[in-house]
Amino acid sequence: MDLTKKIEDIRFIGPAYAKRLKNLDISTVRDLLYHIPHRYDDFSQVKQISEIHPGDVVSVRGKVWQIKNVFSRTHKMMTVALINDGTGTLRSLWFHQPYLKNTLKEGTEVTLAGQIEWFQNKPALMSPEFEVGKAVHTARIVPTYPVTAGISSKWLRSRMKPLLDEAKNSVVDFLPEEIQKRYQLLPLGQALQEIHFPTRLDMVEKARKRLAFDELFLLQLIVGENKRTWKKKQPIHPIKVPNGALDTFLSHLPFTATTAQIRCMKELQKDLSSGYPMNRLLQGDVGSGKTVVAAFAMYLAHLNGFLSTLMAPTDILAKQHYQTLTDLFGPLGISVDLVTASQKTKTSGFESVVVGTHALIYKKIHLENVTVTIVDEQHRFGVEQRTLLKRKGKAPHILTMTATPIPRTVALTLYGDLDLSTVDEMPKGRKIIQTWVVPPQKRQAAYQWIKEQKTQAFIICPLIEESETLTTVRAATKEFEKLQKDVFPNLSLGLLHGRMKAKEKDHILQLFREQNLDILVSTPVVEVGIDIPHATIMVIEAAERFGLAGLHQLRGRVGRSDRQSYCLLFTDSPDPHVTEKLKHLEHTHNGMQLSELDLKLRGPGEIFGTKQHGYQELRIADYSDLTLIEQTKKEAETLLETTGLSSYPLLIQEIQQTSSLSVEPN
Ligand code: ADP
Ligand code: MG
Repeated sequence: MDLTKKIEDIRFIGPAYAKRLKNLDISTVRDLLYHIPHRYDDFSQVKQISEIHPGDVVSVRGKVWQIKNVFSRTHKMMTVALINDGTGTLRSLWFHQPYLKNTLKEGTEVTLAGQIEWFQNKPALMSPEFEVGKAVHTARIVPTYPVTAGISSKWLRSRMKPLLDEAKNSVVDFLPEEIQKRYQLLPLGQALQEIHFPTRLDMVEKARKRLAFDELFLLQLIVGENKRTWKKKQPIHPIKVPNGALDTFLSHLPFTATTAQIRCMKELQKDLSSGYPMNRLLQGDVGSGKTVVAAFAMYLAHLNGFLSTLMAPTDILAKQHYQTLTDLFGPLGISVDLVTASQKTKTSGFESVVVGTHALIYKKIHLENVTVTIVDEQHRFGVEQRTLLKRKGKAPHILTMTATPIPRTVALTLYGDLDLSTVDEMPKGRKIIQTWVVPPQKRQAAYQWIKEQKTQAFIICPLIEESETLTTVRAATKEFEKLQKDVFPNLSLGLLHGRMKAKEKDHILQLFREQNLDILVSTPVVEVGIDIPHATIMVIEAAERFGLAGLHQLRGRVGRSDRQSYCLLFTDSPDPHVTEKLKHLEHTHNGMQLSELDLKLRGPGEIFGTKQHGYQELRIADYSDLTLIEQTKKEAETLLETTGLSSYPLLIQEIQQTSSLSVEPN
């Protein structure tokens, strides 16, 4: 059976249905077979009509005695059928489907499934599923699917059934037999059959386990293989660590590094001198001080006479890093250069450290000798940029930094190809940022309170779209004008958005930094990572549109000095669940905990930008299943270490057909 066959080439599915199926991300036979039910109704007990009671979920089989279309008291078109099975008669009702009268002619043998409810003071089977002939939709455990306009669960069931009958014997089981045995997994054909049309309800879990195992195992193979390939590469230049380098570096810092920072620096040092290129992720809460950790890697490159780069996602951040590194490296006599799109820069003759944006890659800059590359806020960089950094056989040492902590289960899967360092400690003396969720009726009081604080505040406009579109800019501009005119007429406000010219942005930020502005109104896209120690209030509009980890990052823009800072989460949502969710930020100040919560509430896609990585969302497996994740990781590692992927052509084929992510060539 060819799972890659296009869906429109299947019997009874033409181009029209194929188009609708696209909405469900279904375009091949495989996609259809892996379109998993989200619910099951157990209609497997065929009951005698004389035995049923209101409230029961049942299947009954009988003859249509009478069928007619009538109008209900509320003028709804109703089809009423009387079904008799020899033990009694049952009334069955459907709304707005008058054509049923032609399908279920009097005398037809039919199976019906649904719930018995009271209707007009008498029990009736309400809008039941029905079937004439062999039962697919009734008298069994019946699946319900995620659907879309023009595609019903009933339609899906009837197309699925013949495909599954075929798949059962002909689908290729790619999972090595020993592994299936070790974990008592169902064969693939049976698992597919059982996930759609379970013979017993407990089989659903068994089937799901097999399919989830596959999904995670394949992902583990991909990241595991990529990690191995990476470790076979040569670094562009080997790096030697001179005696006392770490101590010298630490003694030049304007503060005492935390234990966590020092541990992470040692981990980098080990990578750099290991003989293969580093590929490490540095995670740590906002404000935990990742920049100096990364700077240490650049320092070691410098001591060896090599170049290093630091790439930031925005101009503003690049400039800020440039400033930080200049202050840090100045006393050590190390030169720092800045490269951004908006700025004329030299294209060669760099000495030690180059800070920049994507321009580092796209401007034709002579960086062949770059030995250490740091990427800040990694999830903003796509696959494309990352691969640009890699060269055949050789690679730079890469360190990516992220302020969104990666939950353990995600680190073991999506980020499995990276080594991980965590700055899990905040610099001493940081105060907790007091956080409040502010409902609409308290908005005016909150504005008044802000005025009284006589400090600097950020006001973040609602997140409207992922990227900074004109709509976002217009909304922000309007909000800015309203705030200046109606709310804070006596304060000076500035506006910052992504469509402004780099010069204008710099100017506004400079004014804010020098305390010439009281309030900075900004779109959500620009701000990530900016460091303005005097600001102590963060206001976030329409907070419900952000994830918890995102809110935590925004909040981290304040609380950067020893003064008490505050975060106000505005929401106009009347939904109590929304407030409840936002309230987590009032009590939780730990980025990792918020990240874990986000993972539960929203899945990994939005949080870790998995789409941009080329990873797809897990369809069947779940990031909460640590056991399965660990098992699949262990199996994948063993397989890669012993025989290697090349002895398993079926696995290779499956990876190629199912993953947009490929195993990288050497
Ligand atoms: P992030 O991890 O969010 O990128 P930064 O590297 O920007 O954090 O550091 C946040 C602030 O904390 C900076 O102003 C930095 O100079 C300061 N900082 C970093 N490490 C320490 C430390 N050990 N003690 C005191 N301040 C520190
Ligand atoms: Mg940072």
